[in-house]
Amino acid sequence: MAASELINLSGLIDDAKCFALVRQHRWPEGARCPVCDSAAVIRDGHDDRQPCRQRYRCKACSGRFDDLTGTVLAGHHQPLRVWVLCLYFMGLNVSNRQIAGELGLDGSDVQTMTEQLRRGLVAKAPEVELTGEVEIDEVYVVAGHKGQPAAVAKRAGSGAGASWQARRAAARWRRTSRPSSG
Ligand SMILES: [Zn+2]
Repeated sequence: MAASELINLSGLIDDAKCFALVRQHRWPEGARCPVCDSAAVIRDGHDDRQPCRQRYRCKACSGRFDDLTGTVLAGHHQPLRVWVLCLYFMGLNVSNRQIAGELGLDGSDVQTMTEQLRRGLVAKAPEVELTGEVEIDEVYVVAGHKGQPAAVAKRAGSGAGASWQARRAAARWRRTSRPSSG
């Protein structure tokens, strides 16, 4: 019997440490507001469904954000530990197909995740200046919500912080969308 049939790897990974890893990479000097870049932020509880995901409020602009806001990891339905394991396997040069097998994921999901992760674990979602990657970002944003409108709607309505995130994500998407006749 293969080890992967005996061991559920992602079940052994500590969520708290995964979020700590993201915070350390993203904010080695302490959390900063992703909107105005102020360091005057205060902790503001935790995500309703992910107890290790820290929320913050910016004292400068009153914006709300959390550990993953503005990164490619935000809004994805895969738990953070799955992303971290995916990154680990990528470092071992494991193929997408093998990663999918180890993590029990769909191959196309892993393809999307590895493409995102090549920019870095906490890479920011592309901003306006980028041109070549804008279309990729559009596809990603749409794909992330496709097929689960109920979950998205529920999340958007679950609290002020979440709805702020949803508006922010929508605004980001509009900004990065270029006028098109199609
Ligand atoms: Zn701010």
